[in-house]
Amino acid sequence: MATTVVWLQQDLRLSDHPALTHAAQRGAVVPLYIWSPEEHGAWPPGGAHRWWLHHSLSRLSDDLKSRTSQLILRRGPSLEVLRAVVAECSADAVCWHTRYAPALRERDAKIADALTADGCTVRTFQSRILHDPDEIRTGSGTPYRVFTPFWRKFQQQLSISAPLGRPRLGQQRAPATWPRTEALDDLGLTPIAQDGVDWAEDIAATWTPGEDAAQRRLARFTEEILLAYPDQRNRPDRDGTSRLSPYLHHGEISPRQVWHAVQAWIQNGVMKEAATSYLSEIAWREFSYHLLYHYPQTPQEPLREKFAAFSWSDDSDALRRWQRGQTGFPIVDAGMRQLWATGWMHNRVRMITASFLTKDLLIPWQEGAHWFWDTLVDADLANNTMGWQWSAGSGADAQPFFRIFNPVSQGQRFDPKGAYVRQWVPELKALPDQYLHQPWEAPASVLEQAGVSLGETYPAPIVDHAEARDRALAAYQQIK
Ligand code: FAD
Repeated sequence: MATTVVWLQQDLRLSDHPALTHAAQRGAVVPLYIWSPEEHGAWPPGGAHRWWLHHSLSRLSDDLKSRTSQLILRRGPSLEVLRAVVAECSADAVCWHTRYAPALRERDAKIADALTADGCTVRTFQSRILHDPDEIRTGSGTPYRVFTPFWRKFQQQLSISAPLGRPRLGQQRAPATWPRTEALDDLGLTPIAQDGVDWAEDIAATWTPGEDAAQRRLARFTEEILLAYPDQRNRPDRDGTSRLSPYLHHGEISPRQVWHAVQAWIQNGVMKEAATSYLSEIAWREFSYHLLYHYPQTPQEPLREKFAAFSWSDDSDALRRWQRGQTGFPIVDAGMRQLWATGWMHNRVRMITASFLTKDLLIPWQEGAHWFWDTLVDADLANNTMGWQWSAGSGADAQPFFRIFNPVSQGQRFDPKGAYVRQWVPELKALPDQYLHQPWEAPASVLEQAGVSLGETYPAPIVDHAEARDRALAAYQQIK
């Protein structure tokens, strides 16, 4: 019987899995995950990603066991492991889903050549995104750098086929000999508690990784949240977005499954606007992969080259205060603390905190991108790179550098009752709404009554926003 090794990475699910489906149609299936962080170049998986990965692998392993199959876990180097596994189970083919991070693309191309030279059949499938980045081009054949025409072309050109069901596995799809597997705990993915403090405790209380949880969240989102998405999506104090980003990132749900589930609601007239608005966010994800594919240098370098000459600051103390949520600007601190505690931050607040780092503090966007990389459960090279370059003004279709978010008015507009700030910055809880986003404006008696002492119980603002804004604009004039 033909035996296929399915090399999993960010596709930790059983449904709508073209590689698994293909393998099951051929004969025996050997699902394999290889832990090889050193192969990810400058972007090895960060701490929060690893925590999620551990739990995702555990759930996938249980799902496979319940179908009389097995998840084989090994440590890299990937090529050596693939060769060994192919030999151990007498496989004649290996397949996987295309990966887009530049270091992985390069690695996968070499591995495909080597396995083919060994006499193995190699097949790859696209499942991480909805479009082939080589197929969507401007009229002059270049990649898109502006979202709106990309989205227009995307809608004209793509028909997105229906998601696949779960493949049949079971005893008939088992190889004659199962390869050796390592124990999940031995991969060392979960944090080792330091000083008795488990930093992932709050992440565990916030999230349930795995394919079933992803499907439950999608159902809840479409049934209860989607209708109000256009009004609520900018409100960090509400449960107004899908929170599917970590599930999409680890491939516990496919973009095609999300697309079709939401598309189905477009037929319902009342939902049309909301569903269309949501699908355009999924298209931003597509756009970020398009950019990463065509501009693979952008995780490190600004897309707009003139930004290479920008005079950034290297104030490590300010960077540390931003990372810890101790800037003295409540909406910024709330976001950074939500990130640290839960591994996720609301999109509006990602934009505010990123603007604050790059414009108020003039700290390079790459520093912010690295911090997010280590702390986000959805840390994704394409989305994170685009988000940071957008915020810094150096990316494709970016927020112009001279548009500088005012952290006070942003807070007042998007967290008007202060529920978000009160949740994450409890030391300001008793301040009246009027002063919550600018405690330094509160009269001494109000601060005293609220138990706030600036510089002691809560930091005084790290910068004067108006002065910081002028400084940033002056720095921008130098490269304009
Ligand atoms: P929803 O509003 O429900 O959107 C649904 C999905 O669409 C998201 O899960 C995501 O896959 C996609 N999406 C939504 N907004 C964007 C966007 N602006 N760009 C690209 N895709 C989008 N997203 C990540 O998944 N990983 C990251 O590492 C990441 N880093 C970011 C860094 C910065 C500085 C900024 C400004 C944004 C970043 N984003 C990142 C994009 C966005 O903030 C998150 O995708 C979103 O907050 C996830 O929450 P959600 O699933 O509830 O979003």
